[in-house]
Amino acid sequence: MRVLIVEDDELLAAGLVRILDQTGYAVDRVNSGERADLALSSESYDLVVLDLGLPGIDGFTVLKRLRSRGQSCPVMILTARDDVADKVRGLDSGADDYLVKPFELNEFEARIRALVRRGTQMNSSQLSCGDLLLDTLSHRAWIKQSPLNLTAREWGVLEYLLMRQGQILSKDKILQAVCNWDENISPNAIEVYMSRLRSKLEPAGVNIRTIRGFGYLLEAGDGA
Ligand code: CA
Repeated sequence: MRVLIVEDDELLAAGLVRILDQTGYAVDRVNSGERADLALSSESYDLVVLDLGLPGIDGFTVLKRLRSRGQSCPVMILTARDDVADKVRGLDSGADDYLVKPFELNEFEARIRALVRRGTQMNSSQLSCGDLLLDTLSHRAWIKQSPLNLTAREWGVLEYLLMRQGQILSKDKILQAVCNWDENISPNAIEVYMSRLRSKLEPAGVNIRTIRGFGYLLEAGDGA
């Protein structure tokens, strides 16, 4: 999952980035409305965390422009004041949820998970294929009830594939979904992750097929 955080408060932004990074999301962060607008026009995000009070163009404008481009990714707005008018205006402009500062990072994390679920039409926090089960809430994975250890990056790639079972996903798309701007990961690295995941997933009856020239497809194997 690729997330954009738009927040000009350095300390808060650092906390949000850390939390989402630990969750295995690929996080980019900008500190102004103009930069947010630029990032959102050029990249595709699965979720946006948007502060309303920003230098330059404000969060409302960023949100309006995003929606007017037809981009439907979930948006969580952060408001500094517990101002009903701001919340209403935010929701009316197309936000999906809001949090009033200061908030607990636990609550932020829980609301983000709920938004991501809604955005991907998942009804529960669990993803499965064959004998593989992933719980996105506790961040744990099992094959036939025995715990499966995954690195944060492996988790990110696997979660992305599981959410899009039956779809062929290009290397670029996977790369874009699991890496932020600061990470220089070559498309070849994706091949390495796939090969590691394949061997880890073998006992689960889960196949990651390479569709030459197109990308990867995750599906339950025969007999699973
Ligand atoms: Ca602010």
